[in-house]
Amino acid sequence: MAYIDAPSPNFDPRPSPPDMIILHYTGMQTGEGALARLRDPAAKVSAHYLVEEDGRVFALVAEERRAWHAGVSFWKGATDINARSVGIEIVNPGHEWGYRAFPEPQVASVIALLGDIRSRWAIPDGFILGHSDVAPERKEDPGELFPWHELHAAGHGLWADPVTAPGEPLSEGDEGVGVFALQAALTRLGYDSAPSGQYDAKTAKIVTAFQRHWAPHRIDGVADGPTRARLMAVLRAAQAYDLGLS
Ligand SMILES: [Zn+2]
Repeated sequence: MAYIDAPSPNFDPRPSPPDMIILHYTGMQTGEGALARLRDPAAKVSAHYLVEEDGRVFALVAEERRAWHAGVSFWKGATDINARSVGIEIVNPGHEWGYRAFPEPQVASVIALLGDIRSRWAIPDGFILGHSDVAPERKEDPGELFPWHELHAAGHGLWADPVTAPGEPLSEGDEGVGVFALQAALTRLGYDSAPSGQYDAKTAKIVTAFQRHWAPHRIDGVADGPTRARLMAVLRAAQAYDLGLS
């Protein structure tokens, strides 16, 4: 696909080839402003790519270099997510400046870009994540309007369709075996959610991150029946992928 060269000086060496892709929204008022910031040496931030709302794709940092987009983060025990990932910034004002739907040309370009990146590196479906997945206590991008199901339909990332499921909601302040099981499932998927049996503020943030990505029927950190059922379904999808069944 055609990239527009827009080199950023904000990178350093990568210790190993990338095996993850992290999706972000820019969270700034304009795409031009975001592109300028990602190329500003004083800002010390970058990404490998920026995808404009009209579908143009800017290439900022070579994939074999480490870009600076994830910050303090965690997935499946890994903490230097920048070292392992390709970072994609998707232009959207974000929750702070007027969060809005991602236009179809932009989504189409993200999908094409994922196909391109994955033709060069071995990146499992379970390692295509949002910034909020790897930093749930700090970040909410790319957010609940991002069409993860469309990515999955195009062959990228894990997904499970909505289900109706009974069960008492679990929420902050709850404790017990149900909370422990929830935290264990979140940990198995990849979140930094060591099981304690206490539904604390951190657990609520992680459940919120899961909902933004995989259960956007509610974005409030309350693990209701459908949220928990979809967590188990996404885990089964991850397991099937690991076993080579999908
Ligand atoms: Zn981000």
